Amino acid sequence: MSDSSAQLATLTTADPRQDLLGMTMNELCTFAEEVLGERAFRGKQLFKWIYQKDCIDFLVMTDMGKSVRKKLVDVARVSRLEVRQAEHSRDGTIKFLWGLDDGLQVESVLIPEDRRMTLCISTQVGCPLACDFCVTGKGGYVRNLTRAEILLQIMQAQLHSPERRISNIVLMGMGEPLLNLDNVLPAMEIVQENEGLGISHRRITLSTVGLLPQLEEFGRRSRINLAISLHGTTNPQRTKLMPINRKYPLEDLMAVLRRFPLPHRKQVTIEYILIKGVNDSVDDAHRLVELLRGLPSKVNLIPYNNNPFTEYETSEQRDILAFQEVLMGARVHTMTRLNRGDDISAACGQLGGYKQQRPKAKVAITATE
Ligand code: SAH
Repeated sequence: MSDSSAQLATLTTADPRQDLLGMTMNELCTFAEEVLGERAFRGKQLFKWIYQKDCIDFLVMTDMGKSVRKKLVDVARVSRLEVRQAEHSRDGTIKFLWGLDDGLQVESVLIPEDRRMTLCISTQVGCPLACDFCVTGKGGYVRNLTRAEILLQIMQAQLHSPERRISNIVLMGMGEPLLNLDNVLPAMEIVQENEGLGISHRRITLSTVGLLPQLEEFGRRSRINLAISLHGTTNPQRTKLMPINRKYPLEDLMAVLRRFPLPHRKQVTIEYILIKGVNDSVDDAHRLVELLRGLPSKVNLIPYNNNPFTEYETSEQRDILAFQEVLMGARVHTMTRLNRGDDISAACGQLGGYKQQRPKAKVAITATE
């Protein structure tokens, strides 16, 4: 560990006060009773101050008595991420690079659209799944994000957009959210809570490669929308792109999706990257139609975003159109995802700037690496 990161670790871990960020309403109520010696409803007040009003200063929480506020200052804190970089794309997209307490970093991407303001957030530092085409996967897995680190990406991105509220959240940044369900789900509960961030489950989407036991658990524990990174229509093809397909092959994945609880979600989103000469033939399109038969779904076609870390290339425009035509001809609801923010390497699969950096060091972004 370098001197400066050792110093930072001491600084941050030395703070003995309890971080309230990431605590659910129930946990804050218990905290109010057990640590503050107050009635449980103080927890609800704290919840509102922290998440709805985004307040980090206990002294201004004037619906609580002075002695409670002073006690809070002594025993508690509300954490923040360090904003290392906020890069603006020509199309209005903003890519954030957040510094974490241990010197690691993750990225989120804020994407303004006509009727939506979507934030794409990360759930892990790195990712263990090693999909062959993905930049994040190239660097391996480092650790899960905490609840606070997941929530703060949203709360602090909002501060950069005072005039427009973030309306939609997609868990499609770095990492595999199903490998971090115990932090992801409580964080998303806080996001959905009216007295929290107040974003409905209909406007939150979790994207996964499809880890089957965790997928079933997610179906039971949460109502938020599901997107599956499919990317292949035969097992050999998908296994080459996504090694996890060896463990959970297409037929097993599709079987789980067919019994996935959908009432709140209506349909599953199928993400399909189009890679030149790999998975973009008209035969692939026909096989995709067959795979999806009977599954309430919509397909997001994502022309592969070229990057210097892989040999893969984006499909030709005419192949994209031909692929799309087959799906539409079969009445599969299809959208082709616009490539947003690629001038700042903020597009899908381009998030990779998470290698450990010294705190406060000027960080090279992926675009210039
Ligand atoms: N691990 C989850 C969450 C990451 S989501 C998942 O795989 O779904 C990131 C999305 O971007 C996934 O659909 C992923 O397959 C896609 N992606 C990765 N690299 C890409 C690239 N270079 N171009 C386009 N999409 C890419």
